[in-house]
Amino acid sequence: MTGSPDPLSSKTLVMKFGGTSVGTPAAMAQVVAIVRAEKARWRNVVIVTSALSGITDLLLKMVTDVAVSETIFREDAAELLRRHKEIALAVIPDADLRNQVILQIGELVDRVVSLCTAVAVLGEATPRVLDAIASTGERMCVPLLAAALRCHDVQAEGVDATRLIRSDDHFTDAHPDMEISYHQICETLTPLLMRGTIPVITGFIAATEQGTVTTLGRGGSDYSAALIGAALPADDVWIYTDVDGVMTADPRLVRDAFTVPVCSYREVTELAYYGARVLHPKTIRPVIEAGIGLRVCNTFNPSHPGTRLVAELEQQRGVIKAITTISSLQLVTVEGRGMLGVPGVAARAFETVARLGTSVPLITQSSSEQSICFAVPTKSTQRVLKSLAEAFAHEIADRDIDRVWATDEVGIVTVVGAGMKSTPGVSGRVFSALGAAGVNVIAIAQGSSEVSISLVVEAGDIRAALQALHTLIVRSEDLTV
Ligand code: ADP
Ligand code: ASP
Ligand code: MG
Repeated sequence: MTGSPDPLSSKTLVMKFGGTSVGTPAAMAQVVAIVRAEKARWRNVVIVTSALSGITDLLLKMVTDVAVSETIFREDAAELLRRHKEIALAVIPDADLRNQVILQIGELVDRVVSLCTAVAVLGEATPRVLDAIASTGERMCVPLLAAALRCHDVQAEGVDATRLIRSDDHFTDAHPDMEISYHQICETLTPLLMRGTIPVITGFIAATEQGTVTTLGRGGSDYSAALIGAALPADDVWIYTDVDGVMTADPRLVRDAFTVPVCSYREVTELAYYGARVLHPKTIRPVIEAGIGLRVCNTFNPSHPGTRLVAELEQQRGVIKAITTISSLQLVTVEGRGMLGVPGVAARAFETVARLGTSVPLITQSSSEQSICFAVPTKSTQRVLKSLAEAFAHEIADRDIDRVWATDEVGIVTVVGAGMKSTPGVSGRVFSALGAAGVNVIAIAQGSSEVSISLVVEAGDIRAALQALHTLIVRSEDLTV
């Protein structure tokens, strides 16, 4: 299988390239080659690109560096320009076009410098300014890729996603307005596609009604591609990254991880939610709703079929699809023998945490209702404890709640697979494998969809738990894909 459909039936393909796929001269050249090949197979091709790898992090670092050291800040700005120039020199042979692109990127760098300097003067970086700065990465990459394609006989034109995706003003994690966005996407892209031009679009970014730039959350370019694919609608959305699709575990953490050839939307949503960065969790919904195809594949190994995402798996080959981890968490417990009689403790606890904007990836409650326990990121623990102590001050004074406390640092290890619910004994085998590896399970939660089991383990045990469970699926033919 090459992953390419029959040429005669191929209509519209959205290709999204992640940061590593465009992060070096060699990678960018590879992207140009891939686009040329697919252009020959599809009637319409649309490209969505991330910023070069590391650039969004660098931009956000500049916001803090500007206050720390003028020298470091200047070095950051020089690095921004250098990374893009290096690629321009390698992939845009036409000197005039190249100089034009470098000039454009230089102007964007100058703007970032001004914005960061303004932040230093004001002494405060609002989420709105952070988005103005973070959005620059994609805006620098697009002219580079569009020019590289034009120099290689591909008709391409850069499109800023602020013209396409309308969002609310929840800066740094904006929520798109589907109706307006879908309309804008079709209206803007259709004329380009009719002329045979490939739109090269900035991932990650959107704009409010007033035209202010927003971002869709870190890793949000996958989501941009899904929204654009759903709006057109495309036949397929292909997410190009630096590994062979969705794998049984993060290949950076588990050496013998292997590709999962087919994965259901529910499984991949759970995987993404529980820490597998390979696909942004919001990517799935627009694609399901539009009923279009989704594939994750490797820029550096394009003939590998990667992973096909499907609505439902009819024949469930294998039981456990993948194991994911989230680290740097702590478990917060609200406990007390009098809690049983206090109405709405859970609701009030979660409301308090939500008001802080803290995400809660896992919740467990003891059956006696004498404690509620949930995971929060370590960086938020102290704030959460303080707010809970304030929210329950009366109950604590009355001794209905005895304690609000946090464990040492923990991690969540999640086993994902839709086949688990119909296969007895899987959790038993999971616990035996962990026991044999000497891993102590602190808490358990089963996803409501029954597609996953999440286990809380001590921070020091995360690697051992991941490896033990991966070895279990590698060695058990009945559990693996
Ligand atoms: P991109 O820049 O292409 O969006 P990301 O870094 O966001 O790429 O996501 C790809 C990375 O996700 C891989 O390099 C890999 O380390 C990580 N990853 C984590 N879990 C998984 C998994 N189960 N399968 C594949 N990749 C995974
Ligand atoms: N460049 C953005 C980020 O680093 C978006 C993305 O890569 O998807 O978060
Ligand atoms: Mg990503």
